[in-house]
Amino acid sequence: MDHLEHTDVVVIGLGPGGEYAAGTLAEAGLHVTGIESRLVGGECPYYGCIPSKMMIRAANLIAETKRVPGMAGTSTVTPDWSPVALRIREEATDYWNDKVAADRFTGKGGHLVRGHGKITGPGQVTVDTEDGARVFQARRGIVINCGTDPAIPPLPGLADTPYWTNREIVQAEQVPESLIVLGGGAIGAELAQVFARFGAAVTVVEALPRLLSFEEPEASELIQRIFTAEGIRVCTMAPAERVSHNGARFTVHLGDGVITAERLLVATGRRVDLASLGVAEVGLDPKARTIPTDGWMRAADGVWAIGDVTGKGAFTHMSMYQADIAVRDILGQGGEFADYRAVPRVTFTDPEIGSVGLTEEQARAAGLRVRTGVIQVPYSARGWIHKAGNDGFIKVIEDAERSVLVGASSVGPYGGEVLSALQVAVRAEVPLATLRNMPYAYPTFHRAIEDALKKLDGATGFGPS
Ligand SMILES: Cc1cc2nc3c(=O)[nH]c(=O)nc-3n(C[C@H](O)[C@H](O)[C@H](O)COP(=O)(O)OP(=O)(O)OC[C@H]3O[C@@H](n4cnc5c(N)ncnc54)[C@H](O)[C@@H]3O)c2cc1C
Repeated sequence: MDHLEHTDVVVIGLGPGGEYAAGTLAEAGLHVTGIESRLVGGECPYYGCIPSKMMIRAANLIAETKRVPGMAGTSTVTPDWSPVALRIREEATDYWNDKVAADRFTGKGGHLVRGHGKITGPGQVTVDTEDGARVFQARRGIVINCGTDPAIPPLPGLADTPYWTNREIVQAEQVPESLIVLGGGAIGAELAQVFARFGAAVTVVEALPRLLSFEEPEASELIQRIFTAEGIRVCTMAPAERVSHNGARFTVHLGDGVITAERLLVATGRRVDLASLGVAEVGLDPKARTIPTDGWMRAADGVWAIGDVTGKGAFTHMSMYQADIAVRDILGQGGEFADYRAVPRVTFTDPEIGSVGLTEEQARAAGLRVRTGVIQVPYSARGWIHKAGNDGFIKVIEDAERSVLVGASSVGPYGGEVLSALQVAVRAEVPLATLRNMPYAYPTFHRAIEDALKKLDGATGFGPS
């Protein structure tokens, strides 16, 4: 077929991992065709991690100011969303323009093609571009980094309303007077707290019995208590039944009542449409929710998959981690293959909820002989000093057979940072004896890890240490 354009590697989707993989392979001298239907860089910089974390930084400043009384004098704060909206436009997303990222990729020698890519045969990808279809034939293979889209539940009425997803809420120029957040997972919880701290009357609606249901129950209980104290209404076990909008306000019908608000954020998970990617052409299931991969991120002969679509954790760090493995495999460099025993995740609420490895329930379900140790941050020396805003805990999960940690949660101020020590412990299977036989800097938040380890033996009360 003479209309074929030959290339070494086609990368479908330039999210964080795809952009990294495509750029690195191009720098290594391969002819790389990167295909992107939206913005080079993907969800994280334009609609996800970065704008949401800028919002959170601003919201946390407000919360800190409110902690001044009783600690450092008096304070008044008048929240103003406009610097947040402006920062997201100017610093984070360049008004949702990906020129810098696109130039970064082409500067490395990559060939950028804008449009929707679909696999149309082994090694073959057809792209619908503005100028018509282009067909690429890859000599080495295809890397799929298609990411995910917001999942919209099939609730009667919802589709006809002007609801927000993460892609609209990050573009908000004003804080609504009231906001219903459908979904109490990480994205819903983070954004609920942001908008409440900026003055919106926020209601979180969650069908499951608790917020952040993938975390330890202690974390869910704590965040629900804090949300309630901050004036956020939390409705759990409350599956939404239908939604309507009267031109000014949303109404969400729950089993036992209705709630109304100016805005509705749908944060009920993520979805992928593998059929539209043409994966059946390479023997993959188009109806699946994820693409299974081996340790080298290989999904089929000459096909690698990385990022959210692999179902190993919808995080930017996972996309980048897997991209590095796929790149090494494509370049024949070898090295370590994928290991998912110590995947860290952080929900950037205040307090931050960091966790790694197995929860207690997962460890028990895996048949391990489990011991747990929990220490409350306010009872650690640093937590006690910190005082206002010191809620949190550290929980460690031990496989008592092997005397190593298989999971941990670090909740509290800088909980995501404290997590790193626990991640190393889980990943490297550091013997408990070693973890115990070292001094932890005083008085840091991470020093509470030592106290949590002591609790594994059922010890009680060491006082502020
Ligand atoms: C509100 C929010 C907050 C988040 N916060 C964090 C956080 O704090 N930390 C964290 O680690 N993660 C966070 N995430 C998750 C993170 O954004 C994703 O895990 C990350 O973007 C990695 O995704 P990816 O590489 O799989 O692809 P994506 O970033 O989803 O990018 C995939 C790209 O592929 C393109 N594409 C898809 N199909 C095709 C096709 N057929 N042809 C051409 N192009 C295509 C898409 O347009 C997109 O640009 C957050 C997500 C959201 C929504």
